[in-house]
Order: sequence, then C-alpha cells, then structure tokens
Amino acid sequence: MDIELKPAPVKKPRVEDESKLGFGKYFTDNMFVMNYKEGVGWHDARIVPYGPFTLDPSALVLHYAQEIFEGLKAFRQEDGSVALFRPLDNIRRFNRSAHRMCMPEVDEEFFLHALKELIRVESDWVPSSKGTSLYIRPTMIASEAALGLKSASEFLCFIILSPVGAYYKNGLEPVKIWISDEYVRAAPGGTGDCKTGGNYAASLYASAQATRNGYDQVLWLDATHRKYVEEVGSMNMFFVYDDKVYTSPLRGTILNGVTRRSILALVEEMGLEVVEHPLAVEDIMEGAVNGRLKEAFGTGTACVVSPVGQFTYKDETVSLGNGQMGVLTTQLYNTLTGIQYGTLKDNRGWVLSV
Ligand SMILES: *Cc1c(COP(=O)(O)O)cnc(C)c1O
Repeated sequence: MDIELKPAPVKKPRVEDESKLGFGKYFTDNMFVMNYKEGVGWHDARIVPYGPFTLDPSALVLHYAQEIFEGLKAFRQEDGSVALFRPLDNIRRFNRSAHRMCMPEVDEEFFLHALKELIRVESDWVPSSKGTSLYIRPTMIASEAALGLKSASEFLCFIILSPVGAYYKNGLEPVKIWISDEYVRAAPGGTGDCKTGGNYAASLYASAQATRNGYDQVLWLDATHRKYVEEVGSMNMFFVYDDKVYTSPLRGTILNGVTRRSILALVEEMGLEVVEHPLAVEDIMEGAVNGRLKEAFGTGTACVVSPVGQFTYKDETVSLGNGQMGVLTTQLYNTLTGIQYGTLKDNRGWVLSV
C-alpha cells in the first residue's frame, strides 16, 4: 500500500523553550491515518495535517470502547539524526492488543514504514535538549456507526506525534506510591495485558483518590488474592530484594512493557539474579523496614525508570533510600537512556535509525 503525502502547507510555530514542552501538550503539523473496512482491508493510507476527525455519534468506540493504543519515542542523537527504540516490539504489542480486542491487525513492515515516513516528514519537531524526545502515539478505534454491542466492521488507525520535555526536571525524584487494597486494575482472563482505553478509564477513580491524598501513583495488587504487587498506572515494577531483582511475571494481568524487557536484559547482563515472581505486599512493607528491600523502581516509555521513595498500604507508610535514588536504579537509568540517545553503544539491535 502506498502512503499518500498531503502534508500541511503551513507549519505551526515551534515551542522555542524546550523546558516548557511538558507531556502531550503539543502536536506536530501532520498525522498518519488509514481506514479499514471488512472485505476491503486497510486502505487510504495518508499523511495529512493534524486535526479533528468527523465521527458519527453512534461510532462504536464511543459506546463500547473498542480502542487500542501504543506509546514509543524517537530520540535526537548526538550527530543530529533521529532514532527509534525497539519500535517493532511496540507494533507487535499493538497487534496483540488488536487481536484480543477483536480488531484488525496491521502489517508490521508497513506500519513501521508508515511510522518512519511520518517521523521523516516531522523530523524537525524532534527536540534536542537533554531528556527530551518525540512521543509517538499509534491508535486504533472502532469507527463504524451502529449502536448494537458487537465488534465493528470499520476502523480508523492513526499515528500522532508530540514533542515532550524531560520527564525529570530536577534530577530523578523518588515517587510516593499508594498501594490500593480496595480497587483492582485487571483480573485474570481480563484485558490487563492490552493497551486498551477501558483499562485506564477504570483506574482513574483510585488515581484521583491517591492524588487527593498526596501520592504520585497507585500500585495495584492482584485481583484474586489482593496480596501480590502487580504494576502501577503505566509502569511495570521492579524490586531489589535480598540482592535479587524481582518483577511480576507476565500472566495476562500486567502490561508486557518494552522497558521492562529491556531492563531485564540489562540486569541479566550485569550478572544479577532476576526473579519473575510476584512479591507479596507484606514483603514490600516489611522489607523496607528490615532492609531486605533495597530499591524499588517503575519502568515505562514515558519515564524510562522512576525510583520509588515511599510506599503506603492501609495506614502504614514506609520509606526507601532516604530520598535518594538507588545505585542499581541509577545505573539502569543511565545505561538505558545512554543507548536511546546514542551516547552508549547499542550492541543489541534496539535502536533503529529513521
Ligand atoms: C505502557 C504501559 C507500561 C509500560 O510499557 P512500556 O512498553 O515500557 O512503555 C506498563 N504498564 C502499563 C499498564 C502500561 O500501559
């Protein structure tokens, strides 16, 4: 399939001060769009000016949330070129989410080509100051106009781009985490391992509660036992416990993070023991007090690595690391961002030049 190129004739003014970019506030001049119709397949691939869609009020996505998305980044390299980090991993996960949500898959090669084409058109939007990047949001929605509950026969797929600022403005600040004993995010057999809108809508209530009480993030426990720690809002969790590195196993209730996979590879290369086994909430709370829990951090595309400084569960609060970031957390952050920005050698084939 060819991609029709009809970019915006006039460019928007740039955000000159990259320290003001924030996250997801600004969008580039153009977007990639294609349509799907049962019996026809994907068609009308195009790069067109960024702007609103016309959707029928009965479009199925607006009622039954048949929707999936992805999040990845393009990084400005020291030599001025632009590189993507493990983009095929994101495209494959997009297709796994599509499959689970009864949506049509995209052709991996074609979608990567479309992604690169769009970034080439928008390459001067990739910011260059330290810690900044171009955030990429591929999305698919059920666009068919019909009110009955069913899987749609028409879909819209698009990719939008947003220049984003450094996640950490004043160095990596450890976050305060609230462990929810009341609400759950994902149950076995559900859609916890898909990036689908409904998961996030369902998490907002507990997040709002956490924010109101002065916490940064909610840490979810498993829905069955309300005992094992799973993940936070949009990050997988890691714990340095008894000098081993623990993270939740992939059993369908947590997202299979690309950052998680990258961190696991780095940790193994460092010769540390990795345990993909859930820790119980008691292990976290007691471990922070008796010293068995040395470090805890979240991982995700937006933050890369986010150190945890405090956990609250029921009425108890425990601290980790005296407000400092752990040694391993720091090392992993520096290594992964070094590979992404091209200051460290990539000998794993993770970085793809645009
Ligand atoms: C996106 C996401 C992550 C992190 O995945 P990455 O591929 O590392 O960005 C973790 N948990 C949830 C729930 C997510 O939505």
